[in-house]
Amino acid sequence: MYDALTGRFTFPCPARGEARVTLSSFRQLERLPGAAHPAVYHVLFACGCGGEHDGLVSHDDLDWAPLGLQGGVFYNLMTAQLDGVAAELSDAAARRIQAGEWPWSFFCYPEERPRPVFPSSFVLLAPADGAEAVGVAIRCPVCSSVSINLVTAEHLDVPFHNDRRIGVVEHVFDADADRAVEEFSAELYSARFDSRRLDLH
Ligand SMILES: [Zn+2]
Ligand SMILES: [Zn+2]
Repeated sequence: MYDALTGRFTFPCPARGEARVTLSSFRQLERLPGAAHPAVYHVLFACGCGGEHDGLVSHDDLDWAPLGLQGGVFYNLMTAQLDGVAAELSDAAARRIQAGEWPWSFFCYPEERPRPVFPSSFVLLAPADGAEAVGVAIRCPVCSSVSINLVTAEHLDVPFHNDRRIGVVEHVFDADADRAVEEFSAELYSARFDSRRLDLH
């Protein structure tokens, strides 16, 4: 499902058979009711074929696989051997988290502060400002309100790459509203973003 070396999730594509997409190509995420161990998320993603398709991703793949915290093998060109890469990656990830770095973060508007977050808290995503920036609605794991941030694709796709400054829409977003997707798009084109620093410490 997730390939830690390319940073891409694999989903079925009705046109090409298979799609490999990054997190910033996700458009909607929703936790499915029922399955708890592991929880399963329904994803709508923008495919390389030009369409948008549905996919399923487990909680582990979504939040932990990008950090290398699952099994995986890697062909080592130096030793011409297949190495287990999971241990190395997870070690590195664990060290960085202990040092106060966080793989993903966002700016919670009602709390007026940056917060660490995992991809499973993303609700809606869409390209904004041409293809340069990505708008993302994120449900705060602490206060449960939804804020809209404007970030680079790398901010989402590369764990531990956190934009120094991000755009923040200056009001709380109602992600449960009937027309949430339309309102989200409207917000992204309203250009009412304010710039905030995203230092967690
Ligand atoms: Zn496709
Ligand atoms: Zn919050």
